[in-house]
Amino acid sequence: QKRSIDHPDFMSASDKLMLDNRKKNEQPKKRLGNRGFVSPMIRKETNESKPVPMNDDKLKNIDPVMVETIMNEIVSNVTQVSWDDIAGLEHAKATIKEIVVWPMLRPDIFNGIRGPPKGLLLFGPPGTGKTMIGKCIASQCNATFFSISSSSLTSKWVGDGEKMVRALFAVARAKQPSVIFVDEIDSLLTQRTDGEQEATRRIKTEFLVQFDGCGTSSEDRILMIGATNRPHEIDEAARRRFRKKLYVPLPEPEARSSIIRSLLSKQHHNLSNADICEIIEKTPGYSGSDMDGLIREAALGPIRDIVDISSISVEDVRPITKRDFLEALTQVRASVSERDLDLYKRFESEFGSVN
Ligand code: ADP
Repeated sequence: QKRSIDHPDFMSASDKLMLDNRKKNEQPKKRLGNRGFVSPMIRKETNESKPVPMNDDKLKNIDPVMVETIMNEIVSNVTQVSWDDIAGLEHAKATIKEIVVWPMLRPDIFNGIRGPPKGLLLFGPPGTGKTMIGKCIASQCNATFFSISSSSLTSKWVGDGEKMVRALFAVARAKQPSVIFVDEIDSLLTQRTDGEQEATRRIKTEFLVQFDGCGTSSEDRILMIGATNRPHEIDEAARRRFRKKLYVPLPEPEARSSIIRSLLSKQHHNLSNADICEIIEKTPGYSGSDMDGLIREAALGPIRDIVDISSISVEDVRPITKRDFLEALTQVRASVSERDLDLYKRFESEFGSVN
């Protein structure tokens, strides 16, 4: 007897969740007023099934179309990220668990002077895991993850940036616990004001007003994470609002090794421990994403040797070898300069949080 692949016996937990969501999608869509607003939470395959509480008091002065845009474009469908997925960064991980995750999970214990910081600044070179940390915090706290870059606030929603910021915080309040992750936060909170456009200045002011306002009620569980590769460009007033500032440095040799091992674990390869050590020695200064690029490049080596891709069977594809890595090393270089590293170290010693 044939069973459909949608049969529950054949499905993993995540597939079942997707199927459930798909079934929900088939339900009649809700309309709001005469604007034709459709709750995106019903339509999208998100990791959440909680609908947006549109009648929530916190959203009463917010344009429903903006709420929809935020739910569609800014609320990110976070795949579960665990602490083990993030190689190295032991100091940052331990600090974040203690000061952010536990308080968000147990607001009854962590209140008053034990209360969590409402702002966390992650600074360091590009591609070192700042976004991964943001996603990990959100998934560990079962929080709604809002991910936005400053440039989209200042350029994508021209003319609406200010309202967008207000709506963003309102939705975050309605959907808490929430993590708002703002990438390139330096360009929003920059200290350069000369020639700054009026619209950008207004967005920045609104952002700071909202940032100050969130967390004023002890029940608010909203964490603002700012990520930046240029921490020194953030103006002083904004910098002070991030109570915790953590350096997310380049991966140490051990972390590079675990990135290689983890990405190769599902691939056919014949690298020995000694080969991996040799690659580690050849990659000082590589960021996590440089390592990712290197490994992906090496993994293409065996594919490039294939004469007829259409007829070869998977078993006949040769393993990835050290030679593929040596070749890839000539193509993928470290992307962060020594000069930049100095800047991060200086910022850390001046403003970074020790623990
Ligand atoms: P950032 O936000 O610091 O610019 P990301 O978190 O977006 O960097 O990382 C980009 C990619 O690089 C990730 O998707 C991952 O593949 C890889 N990566 C970076 N840092 C790490 C790390 N510490 N552990 C594992 N992978 C990493």
